Amino acid sequence: MGVEEKLPSGVLLTTVEGLFGYMRSAAFWPATFGLACCAIEMMTYGAPRYDSGRWGQEVFRASPRQADLMIVAGRVSQKMAPVLRQIYDQMPNPKWVLAMGVCASTGGMFNNYAIVQGVDHVVPVDMYLPGCPPRPEMLIDAMFKLKDKVAHTPIGTHAAEVAAAAEQAQLET
Ligand code: SF4
Repeated sequence: MGVEEKLPSGVLLTTVEGLFGYMRSAAFWPATFGLACCAIEMMTYGAPRYDSGRWGQEVFRASPRQADLMIVAGRVSQKMAPVLRQIYDQMPNPKWVLAMGVCASTGGMFNNYAIVQGVDHVVPVDMYLPGCPPRPEMLIDAMFKLKDKVAHTPIGTHAAEVAAAAEQAQLET
């Protein structure tokens, strides 16, 4: 008989890593900035009707040094790309990126010289969200999938993967 079977029901067993993952996903703060029309839906996500404070995201951090997540909400112009990369570099590890909408994910309908054809040319992306614009419900769905990914990422692995991918993206800019 295993230890779990001998314990009375209601006793919760976990690991340090599991606890760490849970805490990291429960205090998952986005950086404050928006790039285009998708940002309006992102703001709605944080406003009372959708109330992202229910899952611990009531504060969008004004400093990248206090942020865990970058939501790229809108198309990224070539001029904005180095700024976006600088904000990303200022975020502490482990850090995550959500590309919100078709423009951030692929350039969308802006297939031209002025727009970066997918923000993954500039920073590594952990979650792509389609739509033009994605509704707040879609952002909530993507956020919970990303939080689940964060909760189940072993300690130390994400930072190493991201550093390699970030270096590659930097070479492309
Ligand atoms: Fe605007 Fe649509 Fe592009 Fe979002 S995906 S930035 S709503 S054009």
